[in-house]
Amino acid sequence: MRHIVSHKSPDTDSVAGSIVYGNLLNKQGIKAEPVRVGELNKETEYLLNKLKVEAPVLKESLEAGSEVVLIDHNEAGQSINGIEELKVVGVIDHHKFNFTTSNPLFVRAEPLGSSCSIIAKLYAEANVKLEKTEAKLLLAGIISDTLFFRSPTTTEEDRKIVENLNKIAQIESLEDFSLELFDAKSDLGDLSVKEMVKLDYKQFEFNGKNFGIGVMETTNPNFGLDRKDEVIKTLKEIKEKDNLSGIFFSIIDILNEENLSMYADKHDEKLLVELFAATIENGVANLGSLVSRKKQLVPKLQNHFN
Ligand code: MG
Ligand code: MG
Ligand code: MG
Repeated sequence: MRHIVSHKSPDTDSVAGSIVYGNLLNKQGIKAEPVRVGELNKETEYLLNKLKVEAPVLKESLEAGSEVVLIDHNEAGQSINGIEELKVVGVIDHHKFNFTTSNPLFVRAEPLGSSCSIIAKLYAEANVKLEKTEAKLLLAGIISDTLFFRSPTTTEEDRKIVENLNKIAQIESLEDFSLELFDAKSDLGDLSVKEMVKLDYKQFEFNGKNFGIGVMETTNPNFGLDRKDEVIKTLKEIKEKDNLSGIFFSIIDILNEENLSMYADKHDEKLLVELFAATIENGVANLGSLVSRKKQLVPKLQNHFN
Protein backbone atom coordinates (compact mmCIF):
# COMPACT_ATOMS: atom_id res chain seq x y z
CA MET A 1 0.00 0.00 0.00
CA ARG A 2 1.36 3.40 -0.99
CA HIS A 3 0.38 6.33 1.16
CA ILE A 4 0.03 9.46 -0.92
CA VAL A 5 0.77 12.23 1.53
CA SER A 6 0.08 15.93 1.44
CA HIS A 7 2.29 18.44 3.23
CA LYS A 8 1.71 19.90 6.69
CA SER A 9 -0.91 22.67 6.72
CA PRO A 10 -2.35 20.88 3.68
CA ASP A 11 -3.67 23.08 0.88
CA THR A 12 -5.99 22.36 -2.03
CA ASP A 13 -3.11 21.54 -4.39
CA SER A 14 -1.66 18.91 -2.08
CA VAL A 15 -4.99 17.38 -1.02
CA ALA A 16 -6.63 17.32 -4.46
CA GLY A 17 -3.32 16.12 -5.88
CA SER A 18 -3.01 13.27 -3.41
CA ILE A 19 -6.56 12.08 -4.11
CA VAL A 20 -6.27 12.20 -7.89
CA TYR A 21 -2.75 10.75 -7.98
CA GLY A 22 -3.87 7.97 -5.63
CA ASN A 23 -6.66 7.22 -8.09
CA LEU A 24 -4.15 7.02 -10.94
CA LEU A 25 -2.05 4.44 -9.10
CA ASN A 26 -5.16 2.41 -8.22
CA LYS A 27 -6.28 2.48 -11.86
CA GLN A 28 -2.81 1.18 -12.75
CA GLY A 29 -3.16 -1.69 -10.29
CA ILE A 30 -0.98 -0.21 -7.53
CA LYS A 31 -2.80 -0.01 -4.21
CA ALA A 32 -2.72 3.54 -2.93
CA GLU A 33 -4.46 5.68 -0.36
CA PRO A 34 -4.38 9.46 0.05
CA VAL A 35 -3.32 10.70 3.48
CA ARG A 36 -3.49 14.17 4.93
CA VAL A 37 -1.26 15.24 7.77
CA GLY A 38 -3.40 18.04 9.12
CA GLU A 39 -6.84 19.64 9.14
CA LEU A 40 -8.28 20.72 5.81
CA ASN A 41 -8.33 24.44 5.16
CA LYS A 42 -11.69 26.11 4.46
CA GLU A 43 -11.14 26.19 0.74
CA THR A 44 -10.36 22.49 0.47
CA GLU A 45 -13.21 21.61 2.81
CA TYR A 46 -15.61 23.62 0.64
CA LEU A 47 -14.31 21.96 -2.51
CA LEU A 48 -14.60 18.39 -1.22
CA ASN A 49 -18.12 19.04 0.11
CA LYS A 50 -19.19 20.60 -3.15
CA LEU A 51 -17.84 17.70 -5.19
CA LYS A 52 -18.97 15.11 -2.60
CA VAL A 53 -15.46 13.71 -2.40
CA GLU A 54 -14.28 12.03 0.76
CA ALA A 55 -11.35 13.73 2.50
CA PRO A 56 -8.11 11.74 2.71
CA VAL A 57 -7.62 10.01 6.06
CA LEU A 58 -5.93 12.11 8.70
CA LYS A 59 -2.72 10.56 9.99
CA GLU A 60 -0.17 12.05 12.33
CA SER A 61 2.34 9.37 11.50
CA LEU A 62 2.69 6.03 9.70
CA GLU A 63 4.19 2.72 10.66
CA ALA A 64 7.96 2.65 10.13
CA GLY A 65 8.88 1.36 6.68
CA SER A 66 5.56 2.37 5.08
CA GLU A 67 5.79 3.36 1.43
CA VAL A 68 4.95 6.99 0.83
CA VAL A 69 4.65 9.33 -2.12
CA LEU A 70 5.10 13.00 -1.25
CA ILE A 71 2.76 15.37 -3.04
CA ASP A 72 3.47 19.07 -3.39
CA HIS A 73 6.49 19.05 -1.07
CA ASN A 74 9.85 17.36 -0.62
CA GLU A 75 11.38 18.90 2.50
CA ALA A 76 11.30 16.73 5.60
CA GLY A 77 10.24 19.66 7.78
CA GLN A 78 7.05 20.03 5.75
CA SER A 79 6.22 16.34 5.69
CA ILE A 80 4.55 13.76 7.88
CA ASN A 81 6.22 13.25 11.26
CA GLY A 82 8.78 10.46 11.29
CA ILE A 83 9.46 10.72 7.56
CA GLU A 84 13.03 9.52 8.24
CA GLU A 85 11.61 6.10 9.17
CA LEU A 86 9.42 5.81 6.05
CA LYS A 87 10.24 4.60 2.58
CA VAL A 88 9.74 7.48 0.15
CA VAL A 89 8.98 5.82 -3.20
CA GLY A 90 7.85 8.92 -5.05
CA VAL A 91 7.82 12.71 -5.05
CA ILE A 92 5.62 14.91 -7.22
CA ASP A 93 6.34 18.55 -6.66
CA HIS A 94 6.79 22.01 -8.11
CA HIS A 95 8.98 23.49 -5.37
CA LYS A 96 12.72 23.80 -4.92
CA PHE A 97 14.33 20.56 -3.82
CA ASN A 98 15.96 19.95 -0.47
CA PHE A 99 15.71 16.20 -0.35
CA THR A 100 17.98 13.24 0.14
CA THR A 101 17.14 9.59 -0.29
CA SER A 102 18.71 6.26 0.43
CA ASN A 103 16.68 4.35 -2.13
CA PRO A 104 15.83 4.81 -5.81
CA LEU A 105 12.49 6.44 -6.36
CA PHE A 106 10.12 8.07 -8.82
CA VAL A 107 10.58 11.83 -8.86
CA ARG A 108 8.60 14.19 -11.01
CA ALA A 109 9.29 17.86 -10.53
CA GLU A 110 8.44 20.64 -12.94
CA PRO A 111 8.40 24.41 -12.57
CA LEU A 112 4.67 24.60 -13.13
CA GLY A 113 2.07 26.56 -11.19
CA SER A 114 0.85 23.58 -9.19
CA SER A 115 1.43 19.92 -8.44
CA CYS A 116 -2.03 19.24 -9.86
CA SER A 117 -0.75 20.48 -13.26
CA ILE A 118 1.93 17.78 -13.13
CA ILE A 119 -0.62 15.14 -12.15
CA ALA A 120 -2.82 16.12 -15.11
CA LYS A 121 0.23 15.49 -17.31
CA LEU A 122 0.88 12.11 -15.67
CA TYR A 123 -2.67 11.02 -16.57
CA ALA A 124 -2.18 12.15 -20.15
CA GLU A 125 1.18 10.38 -20.41
CA ALA A 126 -0.25 7.18 -18.95
CA ASN A 127 -3.22 7.46 -21.28
CA VAL A 128 -5.60 7.14 -18.33
CA LYS A 129 -8.91 8.95 -18.55
CA LEU A 130 -9.78 11.52 -15.90
CA GLU A 131 -13.29 11.41 -14.49
CA LYS A 132 -15.23 14.65 -14.39
CA THR A 133 -14.80 15.00 -10.61
CA GLU A 134 -11.08 14.30 -10.86
CA ALA A 135 -10.73 17.00 -13.50
CA LYS A 136 -12.54 19.42 -11.20
CA LEU A 137 -10.24 18.54 -8.32
CA LEU A 138 -7.16 19.18 -10.44
CA LEU A 139 -8.62 22.44 -11.75
CA ALA A 140 -9.21 23.57 -8.18
CA GLY A 141 -5.62 22.75 -7.24
CA ILE A 142 -4.24 24.75 -10.15
CA ILE A 143 -6.59 27.69 -9.60
CA SER A 144 -5.84 27.73 -5.89
CA ASP A 145 -2.05 27.63 -6.26
CA THR A 146 -1.86 30.15 -9.10
CA LEU A 147 -4.51 32.42 -7.57
CA PHE A 148 -6.33 31.82 -10.85
CA PHE A 149 -3.32 32.82 -12.95
CA ARG A 150 -2.51 35.94 -10.91
CA SER A 151 0.63 34.46 -9.37
CA PRO A 152 3.93 34.80 -11.28
CA THR A 153 4.29 31.03 -10.83
CA THR A 154 1.69 30.59 -13.59
CA THR A 155 3.04 29.22 -16.86
CA GLU A 156 1.58 29.00 -20.36
CA GLU A 157 1.43 25.26 -19.82
CA ASP A 158 -0.79 25.67 -16.75
CA ARG A 159 -3.25 27.70 -18.83
CA LYS A 160 -3.26 25.02 -21.52
CA ILE A 161 -3.77 22.27 -18.93
CA VAL A 162 -6.69 24.19 -17.41
CA GLU A 163 -8.26 24.55 -20.83
CA ASN A 164 -7.93 20.82 -21.47
CA LEU A 165 -9.15 19.82 -18.00
CA ASN A 166 -12.23 21.96 -18.41
CA LYS A 167 -13.15 20.03 -21.53
CA ILE A 168 -13.77 17.18 -19.10
CA ALA A 169 -14.91 19.16 -16.04
CA GLN A 170 -17.28 21.38 -18.03
CA ILE A 171 -17.31 24.17 -15.44
CA GLU A 172 -19.33 26.98 -16.96
CA SER A 173 -17.38 29.90 -15.51
CA LEU A 174 -13.91 29.21 -14.14
CA GLU A 175 -13.83 32.81 -12.92
CA ASP A 176 -16.90 32.18 -10.73
CA PHE A 177 -15.48 28.84 -9.59
CA SER A 178 -12.26 30.59 -8.55
CA LEU A 179 -14.16 33.25 -6.60
CA GLU A 180 -16.14 30.55 -4.79
CA LEU A 181 -12.88 28.91 -3.76
CA PHE A 182 -11.25 32.18 -2.67
CA ASP A 183 -14.31 33.26 -0.71
CA ALA A 184 -14.41 29.88 1.04
CA LYS A 185 -10.71 30.27 1.82
CA SER A 186 -11.31 33.76 3.20
CA ASP A 187 -14.27 32.83 5.41
CA LEU A 188 -12.24 32.11 8.52
CA GLY A 189 -15.05 32.46 11.06
CA ASP A 190 -13.76 32.24 14.60
CA LEU A 191 -10.32 30.89 13.76
CA SER A 192 -7.75 31.73 16.44
CA VAL A 193 -4.73 33.83 15.52
CA LYS A 194 -2.44 30.86 16.09
CA GLU A 195 -4.54 28.76 13.69
CA MET A 196 -4.58 31.61 11.20
CA VAL A 197 -0.80 31.92 11.19
CA LYS A 198 -0.40 28.15 10.76
CA LEU A 199 -3.08 27.88 8.08
CA ASP A 200 -0.55 27.84 5.26
CA TYR A 201 2.72 27.82 7.14
CA LYS A 202 6.01 26.40 5.96
CA GLN A 203 9.35 26.05 7.60
CA PHE A 204 12.44 26.22 5.42
CA GLU A 205 16.04 25.38 6.04
CA PHE A 206 18.46 27.90 4.58
CA ASN A 207 22.10 26.94 5.05
CA GLY A 208 21.45 25.34 8.43
CA LYS A 209 19.11 28.09 9.62
CA ASN A 210 15.38 27.58 10.00
CA PHE A 211 12.95 30.14 8.74
CA GLY A 212 9.16 30.23 8.96
CA ILE A 213 6.79 31.83 6.47
CA GLY A 214 3.04 31.76 6.93
CA VAL A 215 0.81 32.92 4.10
CA MET A 216 -2.85 33.84 4.13
CA GLU A 217 -4.30 34.25 0.68
CA THR A 218 -7.56 36.04 1.10
CA THR A 219 -10.19 38.32 -0.35
CA ASN A 220 -10.60 39.82 3.15
CA PRO A 221 -7.16 41.05 4.35
CA ASN A 222 -8.64 42.91 7.31
CA PHE A 223 -9.39 39.59 8.97
CA GLY A 224 -5.65 39.31 9.58
CA LEU A 225 -4.64 42.98 9.72
CA ASP A 226 -7.18 43.70 12.47
CA ARG A 227 -5.41 41.15 14.68
CA LYS A 228 -1.93 42.60 14.21
CA ASP A 229 -0.86 42.72 17.86
CA GLU A 230 -1.87 39.15 18.49
CA VAL A 231 -0.25 38.01 15.25
CA ILE A 232 3.06 39.60 16.24
CA LYS A 233 2.86 38.00 19.67
CA THR A 234 2.22 34.61 18.06
CA LEU A 235 5.11 35.06 15.61
CA LYS A 236 7.47 35.86 18.49
CA GLU A 237 6.31 32.71 20.31
CA ILE A 238 6.80 30.47 17.28
CA LYS A 239 10.19 32.04 16.56
CA GLU A 240 11.39 31.31 20.05
CA LYS A 241 9.85 27.85 20.40
CA ASP A 242 11.10 26.59 17.02
CA ASN A 243 14.43 28.40 17.29
CA LEU A 244 13.96 30.23 14.00
CA SER A 245 16.25 32.77 12.36
CA GLY A 246 13.22 34.69 11.21
CA ILE A 247 9.49 34.50 10.64
CA PHE A 248 6.94 36.36 8.52
CA PHE A 249 3.22 36.13 8.10
CA SER A 250 2.18 37.41 4.69
CA ILE A 251 -1.37 38.43 4.00
CA ILE A 252 -1.94 38.15 0.28
CA ASP A 253 -4.81 40.24 -0.97
CA ILE A 254 -5.78 38.02 -3.90
CA LEU A 255 -7.98 40.46 -5.78
CA ASN A 256 -5.66 43.47 -5.40
CA GLU A 257 -2.50 41.35 -5.76
CA GLU A 258 -0.77 42.92 -2.77
CA ASN A 259 1.37 41.44 0.03
CA LEU A 260 1.13 42.94 3.55
CA SER A 261 3.43 41.10 5.94
CA MET A 262 3.80 40.99 9.68
CA TYR A 263 6.97 39.88 11.44
CA ALA A 264 8.32 39.02 14.87
CA ASP A 265 10.87 41.74 15.55
CA LYS A 266 13.26 44.44 14.27
CA HIS A 267 15.64 41.82 12.88
CA ASP A 268 12.92 40.39 10.65
CA GLU A 269 11.76 43.89 9.71
CA LYS A 270 15.28 44.69 8.52
CA LEU A 271 15.31 41.56 6.32
CA LEU A 272 12.00 42.51 4.75
CA VAL A 273 13.21 46.00 3.98
CA GLU A 274 16.62 44.92 2.69
CA LEU A 275 15.59 41.91 0.64
CA PHE A 276 12.17 42.93 -0.60
CA ALA A 277 12.30 46.74 -0.53
CA ALA A 278 9.32 46.63 1.81
CA THR A 279 7.89 49.86 3.14
CA ILE A 280 6.91 49.77 6.79
CA GLU A 281 3.75 51.38 8.05
CA ASN A 282 2.43 50.87 11.57
CA GLY A 283 4.46 47.70 11.99
CA VAL A 284 3.21 46.14 8.77
CA ALA A 285 5.53 45.60 5.81
CA ASN A 286 4.14 46.32 2.38
CA LEU A 287 5.85 44.04 -0.14
CA GLY A 288 3.88 45.36 -3.08
CA SER A 289 2.97 42.71 -5.62
CA LEU A 290 5.22 39.94 -4.26
CA VAL A 291 2.43 37.39 -3.89
CA SER A 292 4.38 34.15 -4.33
CA ARG A 293 6.25 32.69 -1.36
CA LYS A 294 7.81 30.08 -3.60
CA LYS A 295 8.97 32.23 -6.48
CA GLN A 296 9.48 35.63 -4.88
CA LEU A 297 10.18 35.24 -1.16
CA VAL A 298 12.04 31.96 -0.70
CA PRO A 299 14.69 32.40 -3.44
CA LYS A 300 15.84 35.77 -2.04
CA LEU A 301 16.01 34.42 1.50
CA GLN A 302 17.90 31.38 0.28
CA ASN A 303 20.46 33.62 -1.46
CA HIS A 304 20.74 35.84 1.56
CA PHE A 305 21.60 32.97 3.90
CA ASN A 306 24.00 31.36 1.40
MG1 MG B 1 1.10 23.42 -1.35
MG1 MG C 1 1.45 23.48 -4.76
MG1 MG D 1 -0.19 27.81 -2.15
